[in-house]
Amino acid sequence: MRSPLVSLRAVLLLLPFSLFSCAPATPAPKTAPGSAAAPFLPSDELHWLRDSAEYRAISLQTYRLALEAAAKLSAGRPAGSWAISVDADETILDNSTYEVELQRQGQVHSDAAWKAWVKRGERLPVPGAATFLAGVQKLGGRVAVVTNTVQSLCSEVSANLRAVSLPYDILVCRADDGEDRKEGRWKSVASGTAVPGLGPAEILVWVGDNIQDFPDQSQSLRNQPESAFGDFGIRFFALPNPVYGTWEKNPPR
Ligand SMILES: [Mg+2]
Repeated sequence: MRSPLVSLRAVLLLLPFSLFSCAPATPAPKTAPGSAAAPFLPSDELHWLRDSAEYRAISLQTYRLALEAAAKLSAGRPAGSWAISVDADETILDNSTYEVELQRQGQVHSDAAWKAWVKRGERLPVPGAATFLAGVQKLGGRVAVVTNTVQSLCSEVSANLRAVSLPYDILVCRADDGEDRKEGRWKSVASGTAVPGLGPAEILVWVGDNIQDFPDQSQSLRNQPESAFGDFGIRFFALPNPVYGTWEKNPPR
């Protein structure tokens, strides 16, 4: 386990990358103690995300509960009149191989490396995501993927989603010079302007790995009482991401 001091140092090193991008930041690579020929070991966070039964269980559990919520909240609504919102990275698409490759090479996240990774189109689904998205469509809901991936990479995101059979109706990327807050893009889904001809669709359920994947939420929620988390488990469903996120801005306690 890394010490808090080491963790803080990694956070500070990675802050310039992680504050302004949806793309992953990467902790410093670890190597097994001993010789230079020691085998590569990913960071603890990445190891847990990729290799633990717990992560897979939490992801499947979250998506099952989210689908139950969608069924309950959409009862009686006409097909096509409602939607769910999912984030892309570490919510429905798994970028952990990108992280492993960076760590193995002793590199950190950069826009160029991220762009090259996205263009490869090799991202796999997060556990439970495919079943959830298909289930929502079967219920009559629209699947809206609202991501902070920039518009200039949106066609690559679309191709990757199709390649791994993650169904969606609406894909809204961030303008290349646009803000990372998603409220404006959610409004475009609700008003029907996100995809011309599709019509308005009220978003009933949100799934994401970052607190900003949920309307009007931010890291300040961390210090609020339990009652402030009332939407979680009801219409907001959060997935764990211990590798990167806006949480890195929070000072360690
Ligand atoms: Mg994400």
